[in-house]
Amino acid sequence: MNGTHLSNRLQTVADFVRPGARLADIGSDHAYLPVHLAKQGVISAAIAGEVVKGPYHNALTEIENEQLATVITARLADGLAAIRPDDNVDTITIAGMGGTLITNILESGKAHLTHRERLILQPNVGEDNVRRWLQDNGYQIVAERILAEDGHIYEIIVADSADTPVTYTAAELKFGPFLLREKSPVLQQKWRQEQARLDQVIATMQQAKNAPQQKIAAFKREREQIQEVVLDES
Ligand code: SAM
Repeated sequence: MNGTHLSNRLQTVADFVRPGARLADIGSDHAYLPVHLAKQGVISAAIAGEVVKGPYHNALTEIENEQLATVITARLADGLAAIRPDDNVDTITIAGMGGTLITNILESGKAHLTHRERLILQPNVGEDNVRRWLQDNGYQIVAERILAEDGHIYEIIVADSADTPVTYTAAELKFGPFLLREKSPVLQQKWRQEQARLDQVIATMQQAKNAPQQKIAAFKREREQIQEVVLDES
């Protein structure tokens, strides 16, 4: 992957950035996403935010090599602290991290949000945390994607400010409101894998001398929910 050719995962994130956007890519590492979008002429400006010096220097080097310093600014900062009011950011991407970290970045950076930004989030795990944060903070999910690449399954969640508060069901928070409606083969593959993991956990627990029956029952219910909500034909 580089600024010219993105992974399918990052390309899917890029597809939701609207023409003319003023982007903040938080956790940008090599700044591949903003570099790609700038080279395609999609964005008018971008901040590449990084909290770690190594990835920050990677971003600086990439921006310099591509002669994009007039469009993209790399900043060494924790989360949304990379964004300044006069950046007039209207799109924030946070990709390639756990859902809990993404949620922490959004929560601790609330002061930097105007609620006019589109949030394009790609948690590697813990997607339910992200959806719950969006629901609890006045956003509505406007699109979701799921894709398999290099042995991993990735979800992309796109959210805009909600005119009226949105409440998702427990199933929608867990599986994704749009993904549930679509029930794609990749979604089914993801949750079949989770069932297999639960089966292993249950089998291991059942072998214990004092098998934790309550926990086993909870895992069995979780397995059943996956079957009913995602896998059974409706
Ligand atoms: N966004 C790129 C992608 O999706 O390919 C890079 C993902 S990389 C796995 C995660 C990056 O997020 C790392 O470079 C890490 O330093 C950065 N990061 C983690 N926590 C951060 C924070 N609080 N603020 C800014 N960057 C952070």
